[in-house]
Amino acid sequence: MQFDDLGLDRRLLSLIAHRGFEQPTDIQRQAIPVVMAGKDLLASSKTGSGKTLAFLLPAMQRVLRSKPLSRRDPRVLILAPTRELAKQVYGQLRMLTSGTNHKPALVLGGENFNEQAKVFRQSPTFVVATPGRLADHLEQRHLSLSGLEMLILDEADRMLDLGFKAQLDTVNQHADHRLRQTLMFSATLDHQQVTDIAAGMLKSPKRVAVGEIE
Ligand code: ADP
Ligand code: MG
Repeated sequence: MQFDDLGLDRRLLSLIAHRGFEQPTDIQRQAIPVVMAGKDLLASSKTGSGKTLAFLLPAMQRVLRSKPLSRRDPRVLILAPTRELAKQVYGQLRMLTSGTNHKPALVLGGENFNEQAKVFRQSPTFVVATPGRLADHLEQRHLSLSGLEMLILDEADRMLDLGFKAQLDTVNQHADHRLRQTLMFSATLDHQQVTDIAAGMLKSPKRVAVGEIE
């Protein structure tokens, strides 16, 4: 299967070609059709296997192809465990959104809280955040997740190892389950806390484990 066979928007295919990516990686081949079918996903594959585009491409596809539920609220929220990882995701997202009117916002711990609150007033389509800081903004009502269409947890195992369970619960409570599609990525699915949180946040997820015996 090639990128052309995944049913992606022409803009996205041309960006991929421009980056010089010739073929989807295994996780991209398996995850993208599941996400494009609107299903929840619990996925694992090793570091460096291309997980970021496995979720960003179908998230961008959804944004390009469907009408928003809300004009004000973010449509896609991506949580990552550390500032560095969030910045990397944001970098790839900037590449996919450049030249469109879909703004991405980056919301990190350690930055000035009140300054940061202003980014939500620009109605970003995408928010990439570390969990503690995002939960703080939710509690201060700086943003609403009522219109959220996709919640993506990148490196869920690491977020839990870093003690972010309560913050993930906060996010889960703010985003409407009936409307939202949830994707969870983890280095391993053999992690009790990941299984537990997946049970609370995902609806009948499709499990995809690349290079791992379940
Ligand atoms: P992971 O999140 O699984 O650790 P990343 O999404 O960070 O992996 O991707 C690792 C590297 O592979 C990045 O530099 C990314 O640009 C590159 N990459 C992603 N998809 C492809 C592809 N289909 N072909 C070639 N390189 C790719
Ligand atoms: Mg990654």
